[in-house]
Amino acid sequence: MIRSVVIVGGGTAGWMTASYLKAAFAHQIDVTLVESAQVSRIGVGEATFSTVRHFFDYLGLDEADWLPKCGGGYKLGIRFENWSKPGEHFYHPFERLRVVDGFSLADWWLELGDRDVPFDRSCFITSALCEANRSPRMLDGSLFASGLDGTLGRSTLAEQRAQFPYAYHFDADEVARYLADYAMRLGVKRVVDNVQHVQTDARGWITHVRTEGSGDLSGDLFVDCTGFRSLLINQTLGMKFQSFTDVLPNNRAVALRVPREEATDMSPYTTATAMNAGWMWTIPLFQRNGNGYVYSDEFISPEEAEAELRNAVAPGRDDLPVNHIRMRIGRNENSWVNNCVAIGLSSGFVEPLESTGIFFIQHAIEQLVKHFPDERWDPKQTEAYNTRVAHAIDGVKEFLVLHYKAAQRDDTPYWKEAKVREMPHGLAEKLDLAESRLLDEETIYPYFHGFESYSWNAMNLGLGHLPKQATPALKHLDPANALAEFARVKAEADEMVAALPSCFEYLASINK
Ligand code: FAD
Repeated sequence: MIRSVVIVGGGTAGWMTASYLKAAFAHQIDVTLVESAQVSRIGVGEATFSTVRHFFDYLGLDEADWLPKCGGGYKLGIRFENWSKPGEHFYHPFERLRVVDGFSLADWWLELGDRDVPFDRSCFITSALCEANRSPRMLDGSLFASGLDGTLGRSTLAEQRAQFPYAYHFDADEVARYLADYAMRLGVKRVVDNVQHVQTDARGWITHVRTEGSGDLSGDLFVDCTGFRSLLINQTLGMKFQSFTDVLPNNRAVALRVPREEATDMSPYTTATAMNAGWMWTIPLFQRNGNGYVYSDEFISPEEAEAELRNAVAPGRDDLPVNHIRMRIGRNENSWVNNCVAIGLSSGFVEPLESTGIFFIQHAIEQLVKHFPDERWDPKQTEAYNTRVAHAIDGVKEFLVLHYKAAQRDDTPYWKEAKVREMPHGLAEKLDLAESRLLDEETIYPYFHGFESYSWNAMNLGLGHLPKQATPALKHLDPANALAEFARVKAEADEMVAALPSCFEYLASINK
C-alpha cells in the first residue's frame, strides 16, 4: 500500500491536492505538505472554469461559506473586447447551445439570424445577464437555471452531464489559505520550510526531500507543486519540457490589483481585452479588480506593457504596485515519472486566456485519485495518467491558438504575426472546415480538454470566423420552431434580467 504522500509547494495546486487526497482517502494515507515562507506563490489565478464547482462540492464545502471568505465573485463567462474590431465585444458563456429539430441554434442563426443582433445575444441567455451585471442566484439563494443545484455531490469532471452555468472569481491566496485550514482539519501535516535538496536512489526514485530546518521528509509518493520552478520533476528528475511558444508566443504577464471606483459596479464575467501585443484580463473580485496584461516580449518590453496596462486601468495611480511574471508555456512530456507527480504550473501551463490553470489542477488531481498506485507501481496506470493529462493540456493549446487565428485584428505587428504563425497539428483542418460548417463533437479536438463544441463555435462566430453559408438542409425545414426558440431565448433573458439581483447585491447579501 502507498501510505504516505509528500507534497512540495503550498500554492493553489499544493493545497487543492492536499485537500482532495484527504477528502478521497481519509485516514488511509498520510499527507505532508511542505511550503516555503521565502518563495512566494505566483499570486495570480483568480478566474476559474465552471467545472471548479465539482471540486468544492467533492470536498463538501458550501459556496455561501467559502466564497465570501475568499473575496469571491461570479463568472458567467468571458467577455472578449476588441478581438474582432475596436469597440466590439461578445461573450463566451458557460451555456450550451439549444437544439431545434436536430440542428443547433447556431446553425439556425446562420440561416435565419438577424445580423444586427449578434450571435451570442441571439443564442444564449447568459449574454443578457452579463450585459446587465446580474447574479446567477436570486436573493433567496436559488439558481436561475433550475435543476442544477445539489446534483453534483461527489461527481468528477468526467461524470459531468449538465453544463453548470457559472464559475468563480476569487483571491488565489485566500483560497490557498482556506483550503490549508480545511486540509489540516482533515489531518494534513504542514511544514513551513525550504526544500534544499531532493534525494533519489539509484533507480531515480525519490526517497526524501531535505529541508533547511525540519529535517528529511520521506514518503512513498511525491507531488511536485513548486510552480514554474519544478524542483522535483524537472530540476531533479530531468523530465523533458515541451515548450508551446512556437504556437502560443505570450511569455510574460504584468499584473495589477485595482480598487474598484464604484464598489457596486461589479461584473459577473472575466473580460479579455485585446491589446497592442497581447491581451488584458479584468477579473472583478468583491473588493477590487484583478488586471493583467499577457504579452510576448518579442513585441513589447515589460516597461511598455506596464505603461499600456496602467494607462488602460489605473491612469494616475502609479502608487499601485505591479507584479511582473515570466511564464513557462508548455507541458512536461510526462507529468508523472517514477514516484513523482507534478501538478499545477510545475506540470504545464498554456497561458491565462480561458482561465484553465486551476482546471488543469483539478483534472490532474482527479486523475491521480483514479490512477492511484499501489506497491507494484503498475506502469499502465502511470501511462494512462500521463496520456490524459497531456490530452487535456494539448486540447486547450489548440483551442487557444484558434482564438488568435480567428481574431480579426491585424493592426499591429503582434496581430499581423498571429495570422502567419505556426499552428498545432490538426488545427488548420478544423479552421478550414469551420469555413464550410459549424464544428461538432466529432470535429473538435477529440479528447477531454474541458471545452465542448459550443465553445469552439462561440469563439469562431464571436470572432467573425463564420461559415460561408448556413447548412443547406435548413432550407428544407420549416423555420417556425427555430424562430419560436429565438423568441424564447429573448423572453427568458428579459425575464431573468428583471428578476435577478445585481451581482454585487447578491454577493453583499452573503458577505455579511
Ligand atoms: P505557485 O503559486 O507558484 O506555488 C508554488 C509553491 O511552491 C509556493 O508555495 C512556494 O512557496 C513553493 N515552493 C517553491 N519552491 C520551494 C522550495 N524549494 N521549498 C518549499 N516550497 C517551495 N489559472 C486559472 O485557473 N485562472 C487564471 O485566471 C489564471 N491566471 C494566471 C495568470 C498568470 C499570469 C499566470 C502565470 C498563471 C495564471 N493561472 C491562472 C495559473 C494559476 O495561477 C496556477 O495554476 C495556480 O496558481 C497554481 O500555481 P501553483 O500552485 O502551481 O504554483
